[in-house]
Amino acid sequence: MARRKYVVGNWKMHGLAADLAEVRAIADGARAFPEVDVALCLPVILIERAVRAVPDFPIGAQDVHFAEKGAHTGNVSAAMLRDAGATLTIVGHSERRQDQRESDEEVRSKAEAGLAAGLSVILCVGESLDIREAGHAVETVQAQLDASLPRAETGVPARLAIAYEPIWAIGTGEVASPADISEMHSALRERLVAAYGDGGNEVRIQYGGSVNASNAAEIFAADNVDGALVGGASLTSEKFLPIVEAAARV
Ligand code: PEP
Repeated sequence: MARRKYVVGNWKMHGLAADLAEVRAIADGARAFPEVDVALCLPVILIERAVRAVPDFPIGAQDVHFAEKGAHTGNVSAAMLRDAGATLTIVGHSERRQDQRESDEEVRSKAEAGLAAGLSVILCVGESLDIREAGHAVETVQAQLDASLPRAETGVPARLAIAYEPIWAIGTGEVASPADISEMHSALRERLVAAYGDGGNEVRIQYGGSVNASNAAEIFAADNVDGALVGGASLTSEKFLPIVEAAARV
């Protein structure tokens, strides 16, 4: 099945009003590559301004709460994200799994809440260096995916994507080898098909972890890689657009 390449920037806790110029530059530049789906996941406080600045370009969040509303001080619901103009959200990023101690169950609830509200969802999974070195990466990440995946009856997989992000590769300059990425993505594809039947083949699987202009082409050429979730190299159009271009060239 041909899946469109999906390249998404995750700005993490970076970005002030002055950086909306970069959002504009990225959105303008991405138009040259209509064969690639491109989006930016911004700090929540920038979302509405970014949507006004680039109304035709998908802007997303980096997290969403699982509840529709209520006594959850400091959190933001999927309906609020939609209201601000967001069309997607990341859930289960390893930085949140670590810093906010998010469990697989919580990540599943967040994914389900996002989908139910009409958002697209990028669900992140990935192993630590210890697990990789012990030779248990594949079964560990499969189990993490099984436990975090939204249930089939919640309308997946049309708006769901998975980001395989080895924790040891995030922000470190270390990149998983194309062979290891392909092996993991094939193993995750098996779990998606087990969960959703044929529909599991529609779910895009991105790689994330120190993707940049120099390594993107090789990563995108690997089997079963449908795009990338990009942190540091998504902060400027100068660094991000060559990655989008590499996706277009595969
Ligand atoms: C990420 O934030 O999801 C990520 C992969 O970061 P980086 O590209 O900086 O490693």
